[in-house]
Amino acid sequence: MPDLPMVVWIAFAGVLGLVMGSFLNVVILRLPERMAAGWRQEARDVLELEADTTPLPPGIVREPSHCPHCKHPLSALDNIPLFGWLMLRGRCRYCQTKISIQYPLVELLSGVLSAVIVWKFGPSWMALAGLLLTWTLIALSGIDFRTQLLPDQLTLPLLWLGLLLALLPMFITAPAAILGAAIGYLSLWSVYWLFKLLTGKEGMGYGDFKLLAALGAWMGPVALLPIILLSSLIGALVGGSLIALRRHQREVPMPFGPFIAAAGWVWFVAGPDLLQGYMHLTGIR
Ligand SMILES: [Zn+2]
Repeated sequence: MPDLPMVVWIAFAGVLGLVMGSFLNVVILRLPERMAAGWRQEARDVLELEADTTPLPPGIVREPSHCPHCKHPLSALDNIPLFGWLMLRGRCRYCQTKISIQYPLVELLSGVLSAVIVWKFGPSWMALAGLLLTWTLIALSGIDFRTQLLPDQLTLPLLWLGLLLALLPMFITAPAAILGAAIGYLSLWSVYWLFKLLTGKEGMGYGDFKLLAALGAWMGPVALLPIILLSSLIGALVGGSLIALRRHQREVPMPFGPFIAAAGWVWFVAGPDLLQGYMHLTGIR
């Protein structure tokens, strides 16, 4: 790595994060559409219906970005992460339709979190792995918010990468990663079945188990309980305020994935520090 001041690395990570954020926006929008189209095809296959001839929704990499309303292609200037949206004041240049706040929010989040990762780990392989984790968690959260899905296409590679990095080892040892993955999956799986047997309802989905398994593979079994507690806390705060503000109905299920992802990320960056602070506050140490 060239010998640059830390602040340059952090700024570079922030800009890289912004650019990556606009790619994540595309993934958040198009991956579920592609998945749904695939399921429709499979269902027609199983039912022995004629194949659907409607064209598949746009791919993630190939199709250039355009306004979702008037389909006008975007100029390079409009495509600048965050600033493009700010310059246009949140409206399409061609048809004046409002552009969702999701776009600048995801870009900003990706920029800030990427900068934090490099600030924490320095210019290192660990930071690069941390960035991959961060970006995947943002994409998963966005998709879960919009569609209540956590695609296998994202959770499973994250799980494998966590296990493989532990072979080096990078963050934790291989036994810790394997235990973390297995216990992560089984803990939510058992809560799910207990809840289902007691209430007859489904409180969460299999995607949540796979996401927690992936986080277990990255951070080990010790991280799982704090992640679940932290995600319930964040979920209760966010859900409670949304219901209080009447922006969300109590009966409509709330995606749990974004809260697991947020708690996992916080633990990845600051877990041991948080634990020490907590012990210090409560006088355990
Ligand atoms: Zn437009």
